[in-house]
Amino acid sequence: MPTTLVTGASSGIGAAFARALAAEGHDLVLVARDEQRLKNLAVALADANGVSVDVLPADLTDPVGRHKIEDRLADKDNPITMLVNNAGIGTPGEFWTADIDLLQRQLDINVTSVLRLTRAVLPGMLSRHAGVVINVSSVAAFLPGRGSTYTASKSWVCNFTEGLAAALGGSGVRLMVLCPGLTHTEFHQRAEVELPRVPPGFWLDADRVVATALADLRRGRVVSIPDWHYKAVVAVVRVLPRGLLRRLAGGFAGRGRS
Ligand code: NAP
Repeated sequence: MPTTLVTGASSGIGAAFARALAAEGHDLVLVARDEQRLKNLAVALADANGVSVDVLPADLTDPVGRHKIEDRLADKDNPITMLVNNAGIGTPGEFWTADIDLLQRQLDINVTSVLRLTRAVLPGMLSRHAGVVINVSSVAAFLPGRGSTYTASKSWVCNFTEGLAAALGGSGVRLMVLCPGLTHTEFHQRAEVELPRVPPGFWLDADRVVATALADLRRGRVVSIPDWHYKAVVAVVRVLPRGLLRRLAGGFAGRGRS
């Protein structure tokens, strides 16, 4: 039975991964801070799918919380066969006025936890010549976003994953980076970001994002960009001059309420 650890499983895209993978017969380990939400989801998924679902509450901005998850990922007796590094946050406002501790927490969860959790799980996967790591980035990774370093953190996730996927080709261990566009979750409310001018067709559903990601994984893709709107955006971004992109990004970036 495959066992998948999903971070940020208490809501949004992470909960959608948990639902989809439980339906495919994966045992699960669910990680987030809100223990009660994780327990409620675990009971529902175990009852509906007959799989085993453990909860491991942890704050991934905290080294103690990260170590707890790293230890679970490195456990040779109960191997994790798939890791979904999904937990992430955005921060409002401009870099030069944003709270420095909030910026640090964003870097800790969006980058450091992806680095450390991937590093913890890979040795076991490599020794078994099998395993999957899905890192959740964003379509924002392709843009020189101005805001408060969210896009920079997601660009790191893309480059990190693509580089590792290339390095581990033929090892039996696969990596894929998921780059969703705007998706209906709790993300924007938590980040205090308003995006009033977004056309409705650009809003995605979390379950559909995950279904596309898992289909792309089966097709052997290294980069998954759900939805044709965002595939088109990325295709255009790739051919535009960088200077023009910088000017566009300066005007378009989501503004925080504060
Ligand atoms: P969400 O609904 O806000 O979910 C975020 C998840 O991360 C929650 O389960 C939250 O649970 C967990 N989390 C937050 N801070 C944490 C911490 N310090 N330690 C451990 N877990 C923490 O947002 P989402 O949209 O599903 O976001 C999932 C991923 O998708 C993120 O990496 C985000 O950058 C990416 N993404 C989202 C969108 C979008 O439009 N929604 C677009 C592109 C990419 P707790 O509060 O219980 O800890």
